[in-house]
Amino acid sequence: MTLEDAVKETKAYYCLECGKCSGLCPVSRYNPAYSPRVMVEDALLGLEDDLVHNRQLFSCLTCYACSPKCPADVDYPLFMQKSRALAAKDGQQGDCAHSGVLQSLMRLMASPNLKQKRLEWLSNGHRTSDQSNVLYFVGCAPYFDPIFEDTGVKSLDVARDSLKILNSLGIAPKVLPNERCCGHDLLWTGDTENFRRLAELNAAAIKEAGVKKIIFSCAECYRTFKKDYPNYVKIDCELQHISEFLSEKIEKGELSFKEIKKKLTYHDPCRLGRHLGIYEPPRRVIESIPGIELVEMKDNRAESLCCGTSAFTNCDSCSKQIRVERLLQAKATGAESIITCCPKCQIHFRCAMVNKGEVKGPDVEIEVVDLVSLVAQALGGKSSE
Ligand code: SF4
Ligand code: SF4
Ligand code: SF4
Repeated sequence: MTLEDAVKETKAYYCLECGKCSGLCPVSRYNPAYSPRVMVEDALLGLEDDLVHNRQLFSCLTCYACSPKCPADVDYPLFMQKSRALAAKDGQQGDCAHSGVLQSLMRLMASPNLKQKRLEWLSNGHRTSDQSNVLYFVGCAPYFDPIFEDTGVKSLDVARDSLKILNSLGIAPKVLPNERCCGHDLLWTGDTENFRRLAELNAAAIKEAGVKKIIFSCAECYRTFKKDYPNYVKIDCELQHISEFLSEKIEKGELSFKEIKKKLTYHDPCRLGRHLGIYEPPRRVIESIPGIELVEMKDNRAESLCCGTSAFTNCDSCSKQIRVERLLQAKATGAESIITCCPKCQIHFRCAMVNKGEVKGPDVEIEVVDLVSLVAQALGGKSSE
């Protein structure tokens, strides 16, 4: 792929240099050195060297807040994905958060000979079956918990609660012992080679599993399987995010809940919302729980504000400001908790609240709960049992 291909494929050719993207971009709001318009302009002028060596190239959250408003229909996040692939070929990468441990894990998982202990988190109370036609794709939660222990995040509860819900609906799904990272972060930071390897390994494991349907609880894994895998591998299965699955079950009257008296707000993860257009299913699920009052933040659905960091790259003071802005929006609703559908949104929000070693900023403390944990609680018993 050349820069010219990237420009053509993302319709950057049609850019009117209106600056609308820069005007509404949350990153540009806090970091004036970052301008999506200038990035496109450099590409149109053929300044590939300037583009791939620009440290701001990895600051874009690829949140899709700009593209739907672009009068020339430029797919800016895709332009970023492709420009970063060119930068990676030139040996460039963004600033990896956490000393790059997450990126290293993702690349390790791209090794075909890697043996993982992917099922250690299952307890006797969980029912899975090797004969099932339904696969639950867990995502990288088993790796997140030890890395982010200091933030109090419990990503594995999302996996445990998802299983609890599926089991309560009479489904004992298959869970892959050799599942790999979906590769989302590597793709969006330009490492297409390792992304391809991960996609091929997952596709082979899924083919061998012989399942008909895959259910995801992570918004990023779902986006990656739906939109990116088809460019690399064939996955011959129905794909569904658990919020869509639950919304369908509720509509058919197959799922009902006990009362939970709580005022909640919902944070649309960019990958589920603007990337895939899934806004209503999670809200339908939340509103079907008796006693819950769902209140919206100032920016919601297509206007939702990102959680401030993507692909664990270029997490800086600007990311923190975006995150604080979002948490203050949540607090302004008077809600007791934020519900979300992406383990990484939860990690980044919790990290902002822990506020390690920094001068105390505004009070942004609020409970962050994954949708499946809320549902598991509404089914009765404790969540993540
Ligand atoms: S909004 Fe679209 S047309 Fe306007 S500067 Fe940005 S990419 Fe170009
Ligand atoms: S995708 Fe999001 S972060 Fe990137 S330029 Fe557009 S609005 Fe800004
Ligand atoms: S916000 Fe996210 S990426 Fe940034 S330091 Fe915290 S956990 Fe890491």
